[in-house]
Amino acid sequence: MHISYETFTEHARALEERIAEIRADCGRLPGEVKLMAVTKTHPVEAAGYAARYGLPCVGENRVQEAVDKIARADFRISWELIGHLQSNKAALAARHFSRIQSVDSIKLVNRLKLCCEKENRTLPILLQINTGNDEAKFGAREDDASSLLETALSSARLKVEGLMTIAPLSGTPNPARRAFSRLRELRGRLQTAFDIDLPELSMGMSGDLREAVEEGSTCVRIGSALFGTREG
Ligand SMILES: *Cc1c(COP(=O)(O)O)cnc(C)c1O
Repeated sequence: MHISYETFTEHARALEERIAEIRADCGRLPGEVKLMAVTKTHPVEAAGYAARYGLPCVGENRVQEAVDKIARADFRISWELIGHLQSNKAALAARHFSRIQSVDSIKLVNRLKLCCEKENRTLPILLQINTGNDEAKFGAREDDASSLLETALSSARLKVEGLMTIAPLSGTPNPARRAFSRLRELRGRLQTAFDIDLPELSMGMSGDLREAVEEGSTCVRIGSALFGTREG
């Protein structure tokens, strides 16, 4: 990572202002949109910047990379998994992350359930739904969201806080906005059907921040706009 803490704070401030502007434009309230710093591929110092600045959480997309950083961190921040999780890494992930945003199969839900029972802990999760129907993306199909949620709710060990999606890069018109509005509408249907609250809508990255906030995002996951472009 080649940016200084000063540059990071400039980026973070600019982003917070941009989020506040878009949020106000569409009549949403202060505090409704959380800024997550995505630190994947960057050294542990990147998460240190986020902690020092006062951001609530960082996102990582590989379990082992994150576990190594968490072990070396001499600061406190919430570490969340936003990348695909294979069932064989479920135990490691359940042990180290404060929340897993990328829960996308019944098999994985059942694994996480068992791990949490063994370790006697409660794990906050989000269900990742592929509302963009992008074959290149992970995430459960929209049609499977209901059975996935039902399975997750059957365990008191898993606390389902909401939904997550990654927008597709192509499609017309405006594939990101469409994927985000579909996630919001799906959330509404699930809340009614199960009579529960699913407050978190994790959607939006550096390139589709505006669409995400306008469509109701409560957590934008920002990497390159904070730390610069990633190498590799
Ligand atoms: C990398 C990543 C991000 C951040 O992307 P940027 O375009 O760098 O802001 C957000 N969400 C997920 C799931 C990611 O893998």
